[in-house]
Amino acid sequence: MAPTSTIVAITSAGYSHTCRTEMATLDSLKQALKQKAKATASSPKQPLSDTQYSAGFDILVRGSGWMTYQDFIIPQLFQLLAPLFNSRIHISALEIGPGPKSLLGYLPGRLRRKVRKYTAFEPNGLFATRLEEWLCSTSETESPLLYLENPPDIHRIPFVLQDNIGSGTSTGTSDDDEKYDIILFCHSMYGMKPKHRFIERALEMLVERPQGGMVAVFHRDGALHLDGLVCHRTASFPTGVVSVANDDEVLDCFASFVAGFIMQDVDVDKAIRVDWRKVCRALGRREEAHPDHLLFSSPNVMAAFTQHATTLPELTAQVPLVKGNKTIKNREARLHRPASIIRPTEVRHVQQCVRWALKHGVGLTVVGGGHSGHCLWPNVVSVDMGAFDQVHILTAGEDGGDSGSDSGSLVVAEAGCKTGDIVRKTMAAGVTVPLGARPSVGAGLWLQGGIGHLARLHGLACDAIVGAVMVSVDSSQVLCVGCVPSQHRPAGAVRPENESDLLWAMKGAGTNFGIVVSVTFKSYAAPTFLTRNWVVPLSDNLEARLRLSDFDKLVARKLHWNCSADAYLYWDAGQLHLGVQFGGLEDDFKAVDGVSLFETEMYVSGMHGGHGGGKTSSFKRCLFLKRIGEANVADRLVAAVETRPSPLCYLHLLQGGGAVGEVAADATACGCRDWDFACVITGVWPRDQDGTEAAQSAVRWVYDVAGDLLSLSSGAYGADLGPDPRDAALAAKAFGPNRPRLARLKHSLDPRNVLAYACPLPKAPVEQKLIILITGESCAGKDYCADVWVSVFIRCIHKSLTARAVSISDAIKREYAAATGADLSRLLWDRAYKEQHRPALTTFFQGQARQRPRLPEEHFLNVVYGAVDVDVLLITGMRDEAPVAALSHLVLDSRLLEVHVQASEQTRRIRRGCHGGDGDGDHNKDSNNSGSNLTALDYRPSLIFDNDTTGNEAAKRFAEHYLLPFVHEDLQRLANMVRQVADFPRPGIEFRHVLGISQQPGGLALCTSLLQTHFTGDWAKVNAVACCEVGGFVYASALASRVDLPLVLIREAGKLPPPTVSVIKPPSHISSLAFNNSKEKRIEMERDVVPRGASVVVVDDVLSTGETLCAVLQLLDEASIGAEDVSIMVVAEFPVHHGRELLRQRGFGRINIQSLLVFDGA
Ligand SMILES: Cc1cc2nc3c(=O)[nH]c(=O)nc-3n(C[C@H](O)[C@H](O)[C@H](O)COP(=O)(O)OP(=O)(O)OC[C@H]3O[C@@H](n4cnc5c(N)ncnc54)[C@H](O)[C@@H]3O)c2cc1C
Repeated sequence: MAPTSTIVAITSAGYSHTCRTEMATLDSLKQALKQKAKATASSPKQPLSDTQYSAGFDILVRGSGWMTYQDFIIPQLFQLLAPLFNSRIHISALEIGPGPKSLLGYLPGRLRRKVRKYTAFEPNGLFATRLEEWLCSTSETESPLLYLENPPDIHRIPFVLQDNIGSGTSTGTSDDDEKYDIILFCHSMYGMKPKHRFIERALEMLVERPQGGMVAVFHRDGALHLDGLVCHRTASFPTGVVSVANDDEVLDCFASFVAGFIMQDVDVDKAIRVDWRKVCRALGRREEAHPDHLLFSSPNVMAAFTQHATTLPELTAQVPLVKGNKTIKNREARLHRPASIIRPTEVRHVQQCVRWALKHGVGLTVVGGGHSGHCLWPNVVSVDMGAFDQVHILTAGEDGGDSGSDSGSLVVAEAGCKTGDIVRKTMAAGVTVPLGARPSVGAGLWLQGGIGHLARLHGLACDAIVGAVMVSVDSSQVLCVGCVPSQHRPAGAVRPENESDLLWAMKGAGTNFGIVVSVTFKSYAAPTFLTRNWVVPLSDNLEARLRLSDFDKLVARKLHWNCSADAYLYWDAGQLHLGVQFGGLEDDFKAVDGVSLFETEMYVSGMHGGHGGGKTSSFKRCLFLKRIGEANVADRLVAAVETRPSPLCYLHLLQGGGAVGEVAADATACGCRDWDFACVITGVWPRDQDGTEAAQSAVRWVYDVAGDLLSLSSGAYGADLGPDPRDAALAAKAFGPNRPRLARLKHSLDPRNVLAYACPLPKAPVEQKLIILITGESCAGKDYCADVWVSVFIRCIHKSLTARAVSISDAIKREYAAATGADLSRLLWDRAYKEQHRPALTTFFQGQARQRPRLPEEHFLNVVYGAVDVDVLLITGMRDEAPVAALSHLVLDSRLLEVHVQASEQTRRIRRGCHGGDGDGDHNKDSNNSGSNLTALDYRPSLIFDNDTTGNEAAKRFAEHYLLPFVHEDLQRLANMVRQVADFPRPGIEFRHVLGISQQPGGLALCTSLLQTHFTGDWAKVNAVACCEVGGFVYASALASRVDLPLVLIREAGKLPPPTVSVIKPPSHISSLAFNNSKEKRIEMERDVVPRGASVVVVDDVLSTGETLCAVLQLLDEASIGAEDVSIMVVAEFPVHHGRELLRQRGFGRINIQSLLVFDGA
């Protein structure tokens, strides 16, 4: 099992099931079946026999039921257990109710090899026998747990609360034998009551020393209620689906399995089966693609516990609990049962919560206004900041003067305040802060963005933040960040080292880095708003599109910054409507103040008769759009409203632009700035249907629409995104270019992931990411190679790596399908169909590229941002020329390589014949890196793979030989030798001391050995190593000696004896910075030191602007050594300076340029 490929499936899972109609959960099916049996049958019930149970279980895990294992259980288990396995030499495992196979069997071999003791409780005799057989090696198969010290100990009895490990077939009796590093319950807790007692029993069975053992529970349908047990980690998989063949016999077996019994009386049983089939058919959903199957929703959760699971009393003895029933606004959150809700009343209480969480390795959630779905999380302690509810207004002078606001006043808002509190208080003082549209929303809004009526004039709420007080989730210290008036700095608060980073992160991603106690806002003069609403009924889709287009082009785009126009697209009284709400300063508008403004919201005042009288619940996700009037966007918006599952669902389009777009994307963490409208997809249902299928289908609709609009959007709003896997695709677009920086900050500011349930940020790869662009002609086998290479990286034995292959062309296929009506899934998966559309797709792409000149970069960055969590990303479908030169400056913290896959015309023709597409069959041939077909390219890819032989051996060998060295630890060792020096040679420059490698013990030897082994050419065919003083001399001379080649020395004019050749060289990047030196110099070499036409490798320490190397290449040309005979190797490259691009522009694009290290910055 390849864990990373399954993780991909998790992130896409939200959008892979296009559930447009309601789908009953297995749990509701169970209730309905039981109900039916109760209502119609008088015969006693009978538990299932082992055979019946086993047959039902087989149906459950077949087909899409298996996807839950593949997409959720196995990857979660791997993520959870990998650190534990890595920290132990041997592992002992106990599995409760494993069924016919152990979950451990799906872990990678290097983990499985550590399992030395395996015990199971499996009361189903059939399963127990199959498990035993599966765990035994035979002549044909090897046991998945090959290194067990004793045969697996399988008890054919249930796990009970009393100590029963000595019974059954067990021989182990001593205490030590009863202790385990991991204990797993996978879908085996159903009959256990009370569940928390069984977990506590399991916790007692964890090995005491060393600590860190884990009890992991996977459970289907609904949350696990565990009465105060605190989990170490938890995850959910709401999109699990079980599909069952719509066949009498299969349904009989399935229904009795779900119900958990059959009827004793044979005739009654026969009759009930007929009824149960009807129930299944009434509740199961049918999909066009699988008309002969019934689908049931089967959400799953995972909860993992350590020995610390029972330590809640330690915390509640120190800090106050919430009194009474805390009303959490969000309905979803209300269904979550937190371990406890703590309500600190002093900052030290917040610190105590953090200390407790750090000590016991558990997470916390924070409650602000309670409007998001993840302020409460099952079996996690929640910190309600409601007691911190003060708003302080400091007029100029009280704050030390440096407010930066246009009113001169600062506003300090504590974290339990609501938008309404702030607006009300500030208005009384004649000032305001740009916030959101609803008075009850809390700190989550301003910490994650904050889009409101004043956004076009003053920016987002987070843009007004100038300082904050927070409790660090790393040290539990109280931190003071940015501008905090002295009277609002808690005693003992310290300024953190990375204060500017923290303030930057607070502005848009502020829920991820600490528990915020208060923020300081700059304020603006309180305006009087003038508003006007009107509604246009729309007769059909065409009119809808035209009106949206008019609204966008003729109204919204013409507005001045101090006005805004929001649109609502909704269905009312059997008709589509466009509602428009203006806010601004026009004369005929209704004048309101900031507080009354809340009531003018069209959602509140106009739509759906005042929105069900307020007795509704909603679920929202928000994407940023441009050009909403254009056909492809408008059509999708209209189509979205048409597919709404309830009449109350609607789209709200909030106008952006103005001051929002004036802030540079990287100036605050809130990096999505380039949008005209924030499209809030709002699923609404009557409040009395909370938790029902009606609510679930509204949520599914929101995700479906978001998935559909994603490819057209210019970003997603991070507020409201949480750990739900359906949010992953949105979160990948949430912070624009800031994701890598945020990932690094999360790693350093919340290293123990205390705030694990806030808006998901990517995990920072510990090392530099490797991005491999796989190019080549059609049918050369690019996708096939990508998959083979992914598996080579994943199986790399030296390192635990995650790798993923992604096609960049999927984005354009999505857009093409939307514009032309082509079938997207066939475009993605059906080769013949894809081939048939290829010419039109190419024309479409070219058309789009003409309209959107930065389209290739946009697509490339979207793919990269979407895969921040992987170590190695392989991208196919690239169409760019010289992509490394063109794109590497966009991904400065990654190393970019291009592998060009080529195959003979004949091979490609055969593959086209077989597959009708990018010949990704199993027809590979031998590989080398010679580049026989390269004449067609006017540049040199980093590597070339000849893919002409059958089978994947050649591709594997290629990856092992040429690709794995890029993730070898020696390169990291070398990178670690490059000292970073701040403000050198000038303030603001972060200098990397590449030459300093040679001053480190072993540095020169390591560097030259890597230069030798990384060289993709043939040293035997090289005649000399050339180098330019001074950096080049150091490495080139050591390398030349190692490979036994003469040196060609290039020096400043006048230093070498005649006859010489010379050229002009501009100053190097660093010397121009150091000495303000823009003077050109001449460089020269001895004319006859290498014979004409010799093959030369130029070695230098650094490639930055490329000016020095250009001069060296011109000089070699003067000496009759043409570019075709030259290769370049540098120790470190700084893509920010576009050096490769310069070399290409100067005609040296076909030269092979290799760098050992790649750095961002100077
Ligand atoms: C009816 C409604 C109207 C909305 N209107 C707008 C709008 O006009 N403009 C807009 O931009 N958004 C709007 N939103 C979205 C809103 O910004 C998000 O739902 C936001 O997350 C809500 O914040 P909260 O504090 O109310 O919720 P909570 O659920 O309490 O908090 C949201 C997140 O912030 C974290 N958090 C809260 N307080 C702290 C703290 N002190 N320290 C660290 N983390 C903290 C929580 O842990 C959680 O992850 C609206 C949402 C709803 C439901």
